[in-house]
Amino acid sequence: MRSEPRHGELGEEGQSGAAGRTGCPPEQGAAPPSSVLPGHRRCLWYPQLSADKLEDAFIPLLCSGKICSATEDYHHEAQTANNGQAITASCKNKDTDLQFKIQAYIDKNTVMIFSNTACSLSAKVKELFKSMSVPYCSLELDQTEDGQKLQDVLYELTMETSVPIVFVQQKQIGDYDKTLKAHKEGKIQKLLETKGHDHVQDSYDYDLIVIGGGSGGLAASKEAAKYGKKVLVLDYVTPTPQGTRWGLGGTCVNVGCIPKKLMHQAALLGQALQDSRKFGWQFEEKAVKHSWETMTEAVQNYIGSLNWGYRVSLREKKVTYENAFGEFVGPHTIKATNNKGKEKFYTAEKFLIATGERPRYLGVPGDKEYCISSDDLFSLPYCPGKTLVVGASYVALECAGFLAGLGLDVTVMVRSILLRGFDQEMANKIGEHMEEHGVKFIKEFVPTKVERIEEGTPGKLKVIAQSTDGREIIEGAYNTVLLAVGRDACTRTIGLDKVGVKINERSGKIPVSDEEQTNVPYIYAIGDVLEGKLELTPVAIQAGRLLARRLYAGATLKCDYVNVPTTVFTPLEYGACGFSEETALEKFGEENIEVYHSYFWPLEWTVPSRDNNKCYAKIICNIQDNERVIGFHVLGPNAGEVTQGFSAAIKCGLTKAQLDNTIGIHPVCAEIFTTLSVTKRSGGNILQSGC
Ligand SMILES: Cc1cc2nc3c(=O)[nH]c(=O)nc-3n(C[C@H](O)[C@H](O)[C@H](O)COP(=O)(O)OP(=O)(O)OC[C@H]3O[C@@H](n4cnc5c(N)ncnc54)[C@H](O)[C@@H]3O)c2cc1C
Repeated sequence: MRSEPRHGELGEEGQSGAAGRTGCPPEQGAAPPSSVLPGHRRCLWYPQLSADKLEDAFIPLLCSGKICSATEDYHHEAQTANNGQAITASCKNKDTDLQFKIQAYIDKNTVMIFSNTACSLSAKVKELFKSMSVPYCSLELDQTEDGQKLQDVLYELTMETSVPIVFVQQKQIGDYDKTLKAHKEGKIQKLLETKGHDHVQDSYDYDLIVIGGGSGGLAASKEAAKYGKKVLVLDYVTPTPQGTRWGLGGTCVNVGCIPKKLMHQAALLGQALQDSRKFGWQFEEKAVKHSWETMTEAVQNYIGSLNWGYRVSLREKKVTYENAFGEFVGPHTIKATNNKGKEKFYTAEKFLIATGERPRYLGVPGDKEYCISSDDLFSLPYCPGKTLVVGASYVALECAGFLAGLGLDVTVMVRSILLRGFDQEMANKIGEHMEEHGVKFIKEFVPTKVERIEEGTPGKLKVIAQSTDGREIIEGAYNTVLLAVGRDACTRTIGLDKVGVKINERSGKIPVSDEEQTNVPYIYAIGDVLEGKLELTPVAIQAGRLLARRLYAGATLKCDYVNVPTTVFTPLEYGACGFSEETALEKFGEENIEVYHSYFWPLEWTVPSRDNNKCYAKIICNIQDNERVIGFHVLGPNAGEVTQGFSAAIKCGLTKAQLDNTIGIHPVCAEIFTTLSVTKRSGGNILQSGC
């Protein structure tokens, strides 16, 4: 993950030469690090110190006026800066660890100087702060164990190619020249006086404060900053009852789409291994096994790099970020509380609520004590073993699907129907396929109590459940119980009552206008907190970007929530766009709807001879509107990729005739949509026997 310097900056610095500007003697750096571009020399690179010299090399640092030891503070600060979260990832990934260390130094010190003992400009910058009687903390990169790596990470963060690199009140000032300039212009003094907050207008600290640094919040904040607005993002993860927490980026990147899809892929690879034998690959069946720990570590390391990337990108876009819980305390005023309970108050002209949702619990004895949710699963440090998944949401089925695909014993306990809100014919086909592939379903039961019967990782839990008609009680033992019974909007603890923002009292969701404006004109909301909108990452991003453009760039385009494609990543993937069959029938009447459908057999599955007539394609057409395609459904491999393409055509008003006129690509699954001829009404045969 290396972000390249921006074009203009490169050109200018390349011409003047960083070494020339810093005046550092060439012999200081034996070789510039890989990240330094031709024509640049940085005052950073030093031969590594040997381990025994290292102890002595940790000279005391002057931190905020007091002397502190770098060795001790390193670990401590790196943990606290990240609320102690994502430490699993950081410990396993050296670069991520260093990123946390650097961020900790920046976050904890009013003035932070990344320096080099032999650099004259570093010394001058320190003199400058001494002359102002301002305490600073300096980290001498040449005296640290990870100096080389630290400088690379620093470069990624700041795009500065030479030391010193100065931060004041967590704001990047830059190298020596920039620090001197900022000092001359009085900016440093102002930052120190105002504790980092210039007044946007006379009355407000910020143009926009975004509560929630997830998919929607990050997109909106960066877009607003693009138009010169002063933006603050508050993001805070309340730990799960099991204590799991994570970094910047929200649900999708940390505990949603990203880890889910990667674990789905892990399961698909298991299936591919099985298929490969029929294609001639030979291996000992017994030698093949899956390591949960390896998979989780790899996934978490990738997520760690994304968390860091988000921080870098906010900094690059000049969006201020605070790892703090946001809560309205009065009109135009918010309280930001960090993990140590430190409170700060900020004002803004406008606010954006993008706080997303968190998993719901059952409210039965033992649920919070012993059960996990998807918020815990993707970083679970041990294999969950025999698992009961409670729920029939897409999260439930996706998790059950990949856990079974990894070879675990999985049972899904369902209260009523699968995938409420999705086309039910497709939902049932997904369920059937999962059952055929070893997932057990207990239908029309709900857990009433969960008890621990054995300690361990995983331990053993007893689940007592009752049938929905109340007549039957069953019990079972599982290593892990994963609750996926829905998600609740994070709106009840953010002080909305203090500013008068209305929510749907039952669901907690926020109703907004078609411009994402709440009933309080200066407060907007996007993403999963919205009432009646799709809970999907690209929807939150699109709504956030378009909102910022409307607010700050004179744009008028609104987010179009119609015909949004989506995919459920069950073992047999399901892609959909537009109406479900039942909704279309209800809305347009049976006589006005034509449904074309067919099973199909992916060529790749013919040689392994599996799952014939399981994949299924269906389009729903409105007869009254030139047989326009108003619903698109596909069950099969890469359903997301297939659906994405067709959704563009649907947006453009695709009709059945146009589909028929489209020449297919052979031999791919998606070509089935160019040859659909059997209507449901006709009852014709849709089974496939070959390609
Ligand atoms: C298991 C799972 C799988 C998913 N898979 C997909 C998928 O494949 N494709 C897809 O499109 N979508 C998927 N989603 C949905 C997707 O993750 C969400 O739609 C998306 O993240 C919503 O973005 P958001 O910005 O509204 O909220 P979020 O991304 O949830 O971000 C909200 C952020 O605000 C923070 N926050 C909350 N309250 C406060 C506060 N008071 N102060 C400061 N910060 C606060 C939260 O901690 C969080 O970081 C999945 C979700 C889950 C749970």
